[in-house]
Amino acid sequence: MATLVFLHAHPDDESSSTAGTMARAAARGDRVVLVVSTDGACGEVAADAVPGESVAARRHRELEASARTLGVARVVWLGYHDSGMTGWPQNHAPGSFMDADPQEAGRRLADVLDEEDADALIGYDWHGNYGHPDHVMVHHVTWAATELAARRPRVLEVSINRDHQARAARLARSRGLPQKMPDPGNPGDDGNPIGTPEVDLRWAVDVRDLAEVKRAALLCHASQASDINAFTSLPDDLFADVFGWEFYREPGIDGLLQVTWPFDGAPWPGTPSRCTCADAGRPLPGDDPDATSDVLPAGRASGTPAGRDVTPGEAS
Ligand SMILES: [Zn+2]
Repeated sequence: MATLVFLHAHPDDESSSTAGTMARAAARGDRVVLVVSTDGACGEVAADAVPGESVAARRHRELEASARTLGVARVVWLGYHDSGMTGWPQNHAPGSFMDADPQEAGRRLADVLDEEDADALIGYDWHGNYGHPDHVMVHHVTWAATELAARRPRVLEVSINRDHQARAARLARSRGLPQKMPDPGNPGDDGNPIGTPEVDLRWAVDVRDLAEVKRAALLCHASQASDINAFTSLPDDLFADVFGWEFYREPGIDGLLQVTWPFDGAPWPGTPSRCTCADAGRPLPGDDPDATSDVLPAGRASGTPAGRDVTPGEAS
């Protein structure tokens, strides 16, 4: 039994990105701890909001429901305010996560790691998958906490598999659903293409059998209707293909993408002593979403027919 700590930026990010891994781990008997960085106050106002009900309060309840759905043993709120998208006035409001001191936030997270004697910490890639300032901060805080923890945990970074997402976009277009699946080659909030090229990913976790659990977790966040409705209204087979795969980097670990459970009993490799931020100023390798046939499709390795191996939706 392992203890896995997942750091997320906003209430709902857990449902769209790592929900399958969390549910799988809980079902295996691992202890799953969910740490939420912000209150999500910059999200949508619920269509059925009642007078006096704040966005943060609604999203707090939604997150707790999602955590129960996934079998999370403990939820911890770091207590920062949602910073909004790049350029929003909330970016630099008092208490915004974007302006947090990574060492101070990292200390809060390290306290959780110490309390749990965590074996692994799961954060985000260097640009938070698509550049949202709070997601980028998750990356920095992940590594700061790793340095501060009494026992250094193994660190995985969830990312969007850009190649898999491109295949999903093509498939959605072929089925007349172009609005359902954005092209990951389009710039994210930071101007970079979304996610990570498949060749730079280490772990592909097949959670297609948990697709309905993941959909249920997403539906817990119904107030965030724009994203949640788009995700959950995918046809069942396309939803399973898109959300039924979760991808992770593991800095310091080289090699081809492994389609397996990352937390099996084999000895864990050492976590590097620094994050990958040194590379953050380097443009991501160009990625033509229509020229990815030479890259191993994760789904194909498990027998999914070619052309049907699409992947995860972006977090929000
Ligand atoms: Zn988010």
